[in-house]
Amino acid sequence: MVEPALHFELNELLRGRVLSGELMKNHTSWHIGGPADIFVEPEDREDLQLVVSYAYYHGIPLTVIGAGSNLLVSERGIRGIVVKIGSGLNLILTAGNEIIAEAGAKLAQVAAAAREAGLGGFEFTAGIPGTVGGAVTMNAGANGASISRLVRDVLLLDYQGDYHRKTNQELNFGYRSSVLQEEPLILVEVSFNCFPRDKSEIGKEMEHYIGRRRLTQPLVRPNAGSVFRNPPGDSAGRLIEAAGLKGLRIGDAQISTLHANFIVNLGSATSREVLALIEKAGETVFSRFGIRLKPEVKIIGDD
Ligand SMILES: Cc1cc2nc3c(=O)[nH]c(=O)nc-3n(C[C@H](O)[C@H](O)[C@H](O)COP(=O)(O)OP(=O)(O)OC[C@H]3O[C@@H](n4cnc5c(N)ncnc54)[C@H](O)[C@@H]3O)c2cc1C
Repeated sequence: MVEPALHFELNELLRGRVLSGELMKNHTSWHIGGPADIFVEPEDREDLQLVVSYAYYHGIPLTVIGAGSNLLVSERGIRGIVVKIGSGLNLILTAGNEIIAEAGAKLAQVAAAAREAGLGGFEFTAGIPGTVGGAVTMNAGANGASISRLVRDVLLLDYQGDYHRKTNQELNFGYRSSVLQEEPLILVEVSFNCFPRDKSEIGKEMEHYIGRRRLTQPLVRPNAGSVFRNPPGDSAGRLIEAAGLKGLRIGDAQISTLHANFIVNLGSATSREVLALIEKAGETVFSRFGIRLKPEVKIIGDD
């Protein structure tokens, strides 16, 4: 179906925002990325189910994103429909020691709700940007812990528009990985197990982690956090720095002078420039130390 007709039909069908040619750079923390043919922000679960079923029925490719804090999108952008799960699905409920959050809720908001309810568990997430959906898909982690340790079960929508529940074990979590990165499944809601803890202690621990990030991460420039996964027993940042690449610049993309596993956008960096740095870092680290670094960021869009 041609784009104007698709846009018209989806606009009629959905209550959430439907945009044609929306630039993905408006939805990524790197501020990089070209147009999505169609960009949809569902207003609620029903809207989400409608757009997913619509794409399936018409054979249109679907890409699901959260806050775009772990994404490198090409300048040519993304064909088909991009669904951004955000403020339309951001409910957070606390019940006893449990927190139930919709996938579009910000991880920081869930951590704040846990703190307010006197529930410990989310402290380590302080300073990780993005949504619950992105965090669980990526099995986001920091300070020696990962989100998988809090997940009890999840509600998923498959690409045909049907709901399923999966337990923690069924999500096959690993280091920055989960089954959600392999299979066409959309995270809709997550139940987290927490434990009672004093609010001020929670607050102090979180402030400590945030303070440390301010000192060690280049947070004033657009970036996507760690570009590479840490290889077993080592750190990608240490290896890139030891390879002498800290500060290397290609166009407006630069390997951070503060943290070598971050690539910052100095102004109008392109995905090609970032990719060139990713390749350069990967090749140099391999030739110097024999270690193959694997990207943590998701690289998407047309070449
Ligand atoms: C300054 C900075 C610091 C960071 N620090 C950390 C850190 O300490 N630890 C860490 O692990 N990460 C870190 N990150 C990376 C990033 O914040 C995490 O990976 C985050 O969890 C991604 O969430 P998101 O909503 O932005 O996901 P996106 O970047 O939008 O998407 C990431 C992946 O998840 C998928 N996805 C998103 N939502 C859904 C959904 N509802 N259903 C199915 N799939 C979905 C997307 O398709 C994509 O494959 C950092 C990033 C920045 C910019």
